[in-house]
Amino acid sequence: MRALISRSSLLLFATAMIALVIADNLKTAGANAMKLSFRKPESSMLKEGETPALPDIAEPNPLLAQWEGPYGGVPPFDKVQVSLFKPALEAAMSENLADVDKIANDSAAPTFENTIVALERAGQTLERVSTIYGVWGSTMAGPEFQAVQREMAPKLAAFSDKITQNEALFKRIEAVYNSQAKKKLSSEQQRLVWLDYTNFVRSGAKLNGTDKARLSQINQQLAGLFTKFSQNVLAEEDGQFVALKSEADLAGLPQSVRDAAAAAATTKKQEGWLISNTRSSVDPFLTYSDRRDLREKVWRMFIMRGDNGDEHDNNSTITQILQLRAERAKLLGFSTHAHWRLENSMAKTPERAMELMMAVWKPAVARVHEEVADMQALADKEGAKIKIEPWDYRYYAERVRKAKYDLDQNEVKPYLQLEKLREGVLWVAGELFNFKFTPATNVPVAHSDIRVWQVADKTSGKQIGLWYFDPYARAGKRSGAWMNAYRTQERVNGQITTIVSNNANFVKGKPGEPLLISWDDATTMFHEFGHALHGLNSDVTYPSLSGTAVARDYVEFPSQLMEHWLSTPEVLNKFAVHYQTGKPIPQELVDKIKRSATFNQGFITVEYLAAALLDMKLHLAGDRKIDPRVFEKEALDELGMPHEIVLRHRLPQFMHVFSSDSYSAGYYSYLWADVITADAFGAFTEAGGPYDKKVAERLRKNIFSVGNTIDPAEAYRNFRGRDPRVEALMKKRGFPS
Ligand SMILES: [Zn+2]
Repeated sequence: MRALISRSSLLLFATAMIALVIADNLKTAGANAMKLSFRKPESSMLKEGETPALPDIAEPNPLLAQWEGPYGGVPPFDKVQVSLFKPALEAAMSENLADVDKIANDSAAPTFENTIVALERAGQTLERVSTIYGVWGSTMAGPEFQAVQREMAPKLAAFSDKITQNEALFKRIEAVYNSQAKKKLSSEQQRLVWLDYTNFVRSGAKLNGTDKARLSQINQQLAGLFTKFSQNVLAEEDGQFVALKSEADLAGLPQSVRDAAAAAATTKKQEGWLISNTRSSVDPFLTYSDRRDLREKVWRMFIMRGDNGDEHDNNSTITQILQLRAERAKLLGFSTHAHWRLENSMAKTPERAMELMMAVWKPAVARVHEEVADMQALADKEGAKIKIEPWDYRYYAERVRKAKYDLDQNEVKPYLQLEKLREGVLWVAGELFNFKFTPATNVPVAHSDIRVWQVADKTSGKQIGLWYFDPYARAGKRSGAWMNAYRTQERVNGQITTIVSNNANFVKGKPGEPLLISWDDATTMFHEFGHALHGLNSDVTYPSLSGTAVARDYVEFPSQLMEHWLSTPEVLNKFAVHYQTGKPIPQELVDKIKRSATFNQGFITVEYLAAALLDMKLHLAGDRKIDPRVFEKEALDELGMPHEIVLRHRLPQFMHVFSSDSYSAGYYSYLWADVITADAFGAFTEAGGPYDKKVAERLRKNIFSVGNTIDPAEAYRNFRGRDPRVEALMKKRGFPS
């Protein structure tokens, strides 16, 4: 969020943030892309805009209580009712404000302990409530919950501003920041002081009263617009579909895609099959359907989300968001929103981020032209008499893959069993970080599909944390895959058991049969588990600096790095075993996967990078009034966007950028982190290989355990002995460097 103000407000927004971070992993261009989808529970009788009745709050609200039970207390998922959220959030916000007032009005002179540490201890109730609120928002949300979100979003924004605009509090933080005593603090403590001070200033603590009031107004308006934007996208994803009436409409679709389309039809009470307006439904259809007319129809539906000129159209919302952001940046003393956002990132300035993006853009576009030429040649050879269009790209790419590398994705699948790969990630954690996972059965969960493991040190047996695994799709759960931190590691509030979760949306297999997943999905599992390991390895004192609470353009580095372990022979031989014969995946097939690793990287890079470039350009444009449709077209023309590719997220559906501030002017982060990732894996290959104990220990010590206690560039140098170089990324993607 805009500031790591207090622990609780950090967590409140961190929940949403991590969800987004993880959901749009660049490597998983397929089924795991970010997308929110609500399936409305039939029991709900609420209409749009209606607020649920308040519960009888004479009873103590269980969301406000301390977490009880084993492992130092666990979230009371078994006691949640949606009607409890509003009163719990309001009570917890009041408590937090009272905590903060006490700190601000302390008669003693400000010290690190009575101001900075006291802030770390403040608002623990809100932290607990907002954690569960975030979990519900992503995994158990229905219309009743959406109504609560609409009401609470501006209130939560105003709450944050009340803290950052508390003048007495800021004066104390500033006094500690400028004190001689600061120099005697440890480096972690000094970083925390710096972070608090910087975040308060970045949030307007130094503004005069009039400007502060305007800033708070802007933040509340933005919070409302963000909610509106997201709910519009959700409405179009949930409400639109393409119906398939006959066998002829299914031409080319593999059985798994037919089954999913049939299940989607049943859910919507339709005859036959249907393709939902979500990425996990659309992408496989575009990849396999032989029906070019239907591919075009499905493609148009998907890319027009939020842009249909109806009540869910997001164009004017975007214009308003951009204007408010530009005004806010000016108020805060920055030339643009992008400059404000990047000030506390690893890239530091939009110019540096743009420089990296443009360096990769040119070779990526050149590669797209080659890919299109290959596809066109194949189409011509078959006498298709077509010119490759955007709705043909995935279809012909898949066929070129087969022709060039003799690799059929469906051939790999029988070796990729969800549960075996889950064992695989846990085994890797044991090798790299000495973790041991044991099932924990005495922990309440929000749904019976969720399983929990306790995590301990293999050697000492010391308890480290809990890992919740929630792999299956269900009504009310956002699709995609993500990690969430339920309780972060720290030492200020005593003994803490870290709690993290990994979430995915696999469609449950038939009872008794192992669930098979794709290579992309397996990669995503390793990715999300990398975020979980970043949380579990944390070894810091202060909650605000813990685990994944690092710069936006650095947080994807640990997770993207973990993807590399999927294709290690150790994992493939032990865990990629055939679901019927139990035999490991043949070397020949592994070789084909490796040979085709850079295949289609032009497409993957360009569809992502074009969106990242547009995000940055929009937020560098200042306060002129922007028409998103015109801007999108002009910016893409100027960039030389290949005609055969559309943005991964067109502006009216770009949730990263318009559903909150967190990824605004920040979508470049995936590329930035991938430069570091590719370079970091080199440390292993240059040493003894991916399981080299010395490099793994260096990785734990300098990257996975340090959270935000150190500047990320410095942490990386401590690990690698130098700054990251872009060459490894270019090589990984098969571009000339
Ligand atoms: Zn991620």
